[in-house]
Amino acid sequence: MRSIVVAANWKMNKKASEVPAFFEEFCTRIQHHSVRPHMSLEVIFAVPAPLIEAAQRVMSDQYRDQMRKLGMSIAAQNLSEHEQGAYTGEVSASMLTDLQVRCSIIGHSERRQHYGETDHHVAQKTVRALEHKMHPIVCVGESLEHRENGQTESVIARQLEALFDVMPEWQRVTIAYEPVWAIGTGVSASVDQAQTVHGFIRDQIARRYDRAAGERTSIIYGGSVKPASIGGLICQKDIDGVLVGGASLQPSDFAAIVENTIQS
Ligand code: PEP
Repeated sequence: MRSIVVAANWKMNKKASEVPAFFEEFCTRIQHHSVRPHMSLEVIFAVPAPLIEAAQRVMSDQYRDQMRKLGMSIAAQNLSEHEQGAYTGEVSASMLTDLQVRCSIIGHSERRQHYGETDHHVAQKTVRALEHKMHPIVCVGESLEHRENGQTESVIARQLEALFDVMPEWQRVTIAYEPVWAIGTGVSASVDQAQTVHGFIRDQIARRYDRAAGERTSIIYGGSVKPASIGGLICQKDIDGVLVGGASLQPSDFAAIVENTIQS
């Protein structure tokens, strides 16, 4: 059974002082919701690094029941490909696991675009996360230009290939399909566009490893997801959750996304 992953990406937003109010409203809104039997749900909050401890403290001190019921956890938005050393400003996998952080987004398109992360960096970061028994959520996706030139599949195949090259065996990696043109633009991929690419990604994993590897991998969609759009996405056979940027900043919107996921 694949996990359904609903992940919030707060990007560089909020302060530690805003964290308690966020979780109070979020947890109040979802308190009566529980996961269907046989559904494995993970609700992940990828917060800025300086907010990690505040978010963990609030969740475990005040909302332990919801945490358990909805599989809630705090994640990082990035980690270094290096183990330690003279890398000013970077955060290592071992620093994160020392804080009990078990998951990180890797290779978000904003990191690829603004910080020069290449497929190679993304692959190295993924290896580093796996070495520390973390759960990487690796982002892939095409630009508008790629899509318009009919290069969507070749770009995604190239991004996946870099990962495959450093992973002799497929491990627990969640793939986030995030078309760059849909991130923060309000223009979501259609359900058909998303399902087609998700099917392609699953097929690539199955071809490189085996069918079971493809079948057990959660592939989530990101790009202008809103409470109203989650229902159509989550019903697709290859869409196993969502990565949510803008709509995860409002506790009411993110709670609605989680509720609609559970109910769909
Ligand atoms: C993201 O940042 O991963 C994202 C999908 O953002 P948004 O939901 O705002 O498009």
